[in-house]
Amino acid sequence: MFDKVLIANRGEIALRIQRACKELGIATVAVHSTADADAMHVRLADESVCIGPPTSSDSYLNIPRLLAACEITGADAVHPGYGFLSENARFAEILEEHNITFIGPTSEHIRIMGDKIQAKETAKRLGIPIVPGSQGAVRTETEAMKVAKSMGFPVLIKATAGGGGRGMKVATSVEDLPVAFATARSEAKAAFGNDSVYIEKYLTKPRHIEIQVFGDGTGNAVHLGERDCSLQRRHQKIFEEAPSPALNAASRARIGETVATAMRTIKYRGAGTVEFLYEDGEFYFIEMNTRIQVEHPVTEAITGIDLVLEQIRVASGAGLSFTQDDIVLSGHAIECRINAENPRTFRPSPGQITYWHPPGGLGIRVDSGAYQGYRIPPYYDSLIGKLIVHGKTRNECMMRLKRALSEFVIDGIETTIPLFHELVRHPDVVNGMYDIHWLEKYLGKP
Ligand code: ADP
Repeated sequence: MFDKVLIANRGEIALRIQRACKELGIATVAVHSTADADAMHVRLADESVCIGPPTSSDSYLNIPRLLAACEITGADAVHPGYGFLSENARFAEILEEHNITFIGPTSEHIRIMGDKIQAKETAKRLGIPIVPGSQGAVRTETEAMKVAKSMGFPVLIKATAGGGGRGMKVATSVEDLPVAFATARSEAKAAFGNDSVYIEKYLTKPRHIEIQVFGDGTGNAVHLGERDCSLQRRHQKIFEEAPSPALNAASRARIGETVATAMRTIKYRGAGTVEFLYEDGEFYFIEMNTRIQVEHPVTEAITGIDLVLEQIRVASGAGLSFTQDDIVLSGHAIECRINAENPRTFRPSPGQITYWHPPGGLGIRVDSGAYQGYRIPPYYDSLIGKLIVHGKTRNECMMRLKRALSEFVIDGIETTIPLFHELVRHPDVVNGMYDIHWLEKYLGKP
């Protein structure tokens, strides 16, 4: 096992990783920008290193500075969390070259899955169902028109290097296509420095269902059921649940086994998530994330497995601590992402938290680095905490969530909590009857 792990991240996930390290008896190193000197992940770590000014490119994304922090502290492994460098194949490679373990998959797998076209081709080859679409990148408007007409409108133009829902444009008709194609390309160029795009059939009422997988890197792999993340705004998840209200045991076993088999074939290592759209009983692969995800606690709640601890175990070469048969799904869990944002416009609301009272009681978990008096810096994403609720049934979980939300008090800034108060009372949410377009429609006409 490792002696010391450097956590190349901030906020709630940095704290989450520290908790797993502590339970394994591993010393922790926090890194931080000057804007995060007072952050809880810094206060609770065994050691901390300031790696630069607030701008991410000069701190949390700066590989030489992170390497220097490893050297100074003698860390023998790095956990990247999510976001920042977590899906940067070069970072994984550089660490390995310096004999520091990257807690994650191989750089090769990160690279393949980071390119959406390669990822889709790989998925197809492995027998995973994919969304119908162009074969590879589409370079000209003429080609785009040909593909779109053969598939039928609406179509979705997506960035090959995509992430965070950027570089994605819908074309509903022949007339729409030229502008959508040009906009997607320029957005992709601006966001990722790469204007390569491809085309997919635009699904009109799918759910977003993702499968959590785990591999040991030698050909053993299991799945831990699904998460339903259909409540989204601008392709960003805000409310996630497990299991999905739309799946039964048979469809879960079918897709789970398909994905686990694929992971065995490629000898996948560590935690991963294979994301699908699900419509009319069919699954369509959209992408794979080769890291821990924000919404992993709902899976932890229903399986009782500490996914971050398992990531560290696997990276240390200790293997998986469970088999497929050991995984038993129990009850229902929901996560609400508490963002420092206006609950209607979603405009970020950084500033000082003047009062902080998180909910408690049976089945409640709050993952957050926030505290009373904490000043949320304006430089990073607006997630300040996650409320995760577990119950024996979906109904119990919803009742408990309502109760937990009513206890949660955060003053001094705006948060998304008022939106969740509304959502948990809406019949469609109560009945689990929503698709990926539901929230945008709801916000459009509340
Ligand atoms: P990103 O990496 O930018 O998050 P994804 O491919 O994971 O992009 O897609 C993000 C979200 O966009 C999905 O959860 C879904 O809401 C929507 N989406 C993606 N592909 C399609 C599609 N073919 N049809 C309809 N919606 C889609």
